Amino acid sequence: MKKMIIAIDGHSSTGKSTFAKAIAIAMDYTYLDSGALYRAVTLYALEQGLTDKNGRPHVKKLVNSLKDIFVTFRRNPLTGRNETFLNEKNVEQRIRNLDVSQSVSPVSGIPQVREFVDIQLRKWGKQKGIVMDGRDIGTAVFPEAEVKIFMTAPAEIRARRRYDEMKAKGEEASFEEVLENVRKRDQMDSHRATHPLVMAPDAVLLDNGNMSVEEQMEWFKKLLEEKWGIRLK
Ligand code: C5P
Repeated sequence: MKKMIIAIDGHSSTGKSTFAKAIAIAMDYTYLDSGALYRAVTLYALEQGLTDKNGRPHVKKLVNSLKDIFVTFRRNPLTGRNETFLNEKNVEQRIRNLDVSQSVSPVSGIPQVREFVDIQLRKWGKQKGIVMDGRDIGTAVFPEAEVKIFMTAPAEIRARRRYDEMKAKGEEASFEEVLENVRKRDQMDSHRATHPLVMAPDAVLLDNGNMSVEEQMEWFKKLLEEKWGIRLK
């Protein structure tokens, strides 16, 4: 079977990574989380004092520091999952915290940061057989991707999912805070000047507001068969 690039873009907290991971397992592909790179850069900015008191980046200082930021994914042998490392430190959990979520969209709006991340993503994408999720994978990073899916769901449903996830991990946050963060990120990601979040004209829309992961996989298998003649078990 020909190896492809599968691009999963969409709004915040639509379950892109859960869906992308399930696809990667079903197709024996590599899953890559582009948001983790933006989150790692944001964490670096927060930790190195490259943000103001509201968590907004000092653009010039951060751009000058990009050369000192080294992000990799390493497979955890116990879970079989890729984990994000920032300058050799495992930050997989840390980058999901609310302070990073609140600062990541202004950081990802900086054109030089996008360029920095894109170079890395394209390097990884050279080996085909990847599923990558993000905001601009099908439009800017891999416009040539064979399969493009755009995911969305009502903001309240997305915030509820993210809130439940955070609670399960013991993280402190109120539902209202999480909902506000989801809405703000949608707004900023869709309206930034460089590579805003838009649905690629050749992407297929998936509104998963009322769908389980199993139902999404059934939808994906059907799509793959109908559009690309590929049959998954
Ligand atoms: O996917 P995730 O929510 O982890 O992404 C975090 C943030 O990174 C997004 O809100 C967005 O600002 C940025 N991002 C982006 N382009 C991507 C992936 C993520 O701008 N391809």
